[in-house]
Amino acid sequence: MGCWKSSPELKSYVRNSLSQLNIKPSQRKGQNFLVDSNIINFQVAQANLSSKDVILEIGGGLGSLTRCIVNKVKKVYVIEADRILAKFLEDNYSSVSNFEVITGDAVKVDFPTFTKCISNLPYQISSPITFKLLRHKFDLAVLMYQKEFAQRFFAEPGTGDYSRLSVMINLKANCKYLKTIKASSFLPKPKIQSSLVTIQKKSEKLVEDEKGFSQFVTLLFSHKKKIVRSVLSNTIKRKAKQSKITINIAFEPDMHNERRIFTLSLEELIYLYDNLKMKIGENLWSDIISQNTN
Ligand code: SAM
Repeated sequence: MGCWKSSPELKSYVRNSLSQLNIKPSQRKGQNFLVDSNIINFQVAQANLSSKDVILEIGGGLGSLTRCIVNKVKKVYVIEADRILAKFLEDNYSSVSNFEVITGDAVKVDFPTFTKCISNLPYQISSPITFKLLRHKFDLAVLMYQKEFAQRFFAEPGTGDYSRLSVMINLKANCKYLKTIKASSFLPKPKIQSSLVTIQKKSEKLVEDEKGFSQFVTLLFSHKKKIVRSVLSNTIKRKAKQSKITINIAFEPDMHNERRIFTLSLEELIYLYDNLKMKIGENLWSDIISQNTN
């Protein structure tokens, strides 16, 4: 089973398979299948595959991408939520020993250990899947996202797109924007454009306590237009009242405290986090930031 020789070949495979399975692609499940073989070849080439790689593919669909990967690597795990498609993949690859289908929701199932992730993601799970991927150890991911979502990876502080996702992805990874993919590369055509990006995990840790920092960023970015001091002092006051304790934190004049949250860079957020943790004390600080994310 080789890769596609041309887009017409791929397109007729997708059409025939859908009609054979009697499947009407579901928008809710993000079932837009790639029909441009050049995009598949490009995506696979960007992954720089070797025979040592173990691949995770999220949303295998009809296996159009899978078959361009499976001969090049040690193992491919495909997660597919649609039971009909998962069974189709299992049947089609039953003779391939380095291939395994995990039937289920990629947000919920445990990920196997993998070195690279190559996926045309169902866009409705982009956010939870990206955060989940960031909690795993891997070398490289080559992923297709909705264009607007991918742009948030590259958003600068102070812009409308800058979000918790922008901060956390830059904390854990280096990302590269590869290209914009037009809607006509998919069947059925989605209403939006897509983007291919790579995500490479950073080898060094920028903060020691990543869990605490992530809670802190979640707390701040749920009020991202507000001033840092106002969000933090309200949270701290509320905590003090609940615990009937006196917390006396003088918010010293600090240029970061007076800023709107969405203007703070990753480095500034790390500075603020370390500084407040030191002033408030580790135990109380972790109590303050965790209560908001439970
Ligand atoms: N890989 C194929 C391709 O490139 O043409 C299909 C990609 S299609 C954009 C997304 C696939 O993800 C669909 O097959 C859909 O059934 C599957 N899917 C949707 N939600 C999912 C979920 N929560 N977990 C795993 N797979 C899911």
